[in-house]
Amino acid sequence: MTKRGMLIVLSGPSGVGKGTVRKAIFDQPGNDFQYSISMTTRKPRPGEVNGKDYFFVSKEEFEQKIQAGEMLEYAKYVDNYYGTPLKWINDTLDAGKDVFLEIEVNGAMQVRSKSPNGVFIFLTPPDLMELKQRLIHRGTDSMEVINKRIKKAFSEIEMMQNYDYAVVNDEVPNAVEKVKEIIRSERLRVRRV
Ligand code: 5GP
Repeated sequence: MTKRGMLIVLSGPSGVGKGTVRKAIFDQPGNDFQYSISMTTRKPRPGEVNGKDYFFVSKEEFEQKIQAGEMLEYAKYVDNYYGTPLKWINDTLDAGKDVFLEIEVNGAMQVRSKSPNGVFIFLTPPDLMELKQRLIHRGTDSMEVINKRIKKAFSEIEMMQNYDYAVVNDEVPNAVEKVKEIIRSERLRVRRV
């Protein structure tokens, strides 16, 4: 029987750089874990591609998938739904491949309650002022949305204690290396059944 794959969850406040760290990991050659593409009701940003960055769907379609039990987890985040389609995750783990999720904290806690054997990594900003500057420089959100995201970041940081690892995102290459180190050592962990 194939050994079931490992679930790796990278989470942390919005704007901390989860997406950048995740992209840098997947841009490196030789990764042998799979990225789970989320579903969202948010509109695509310039350059984002349906089926690559997200599956972009309507609110009705998303709610219908929740009702049908097709989501591993989902969260409403700044007025939009974001979630992880369940079937692809199960199929990929059953095939013995490790799966990498990049999601916000409420969704991560839902995954934790369903898959306690997963590896939960919290990416944290060096400080919240820097996080605000990053969101402003990113230039993708209005000040109103940025302020909402910062308010949310304060409550999200308190969630760190529910994770297995904390990685400070001071420099992206450092954070990438740390996440990869965690995955390397978790693969060697003796898992008790
Ligand atoms: P953004 O709109 O900046 O792409 O994402 C907003 C937030 O939603 C980020 O913190 C991102 O990590 C999170 N997110 C993306 N996909 C998912 C998902 O499938 N589930 C949950 N719970 N959060 C997600």
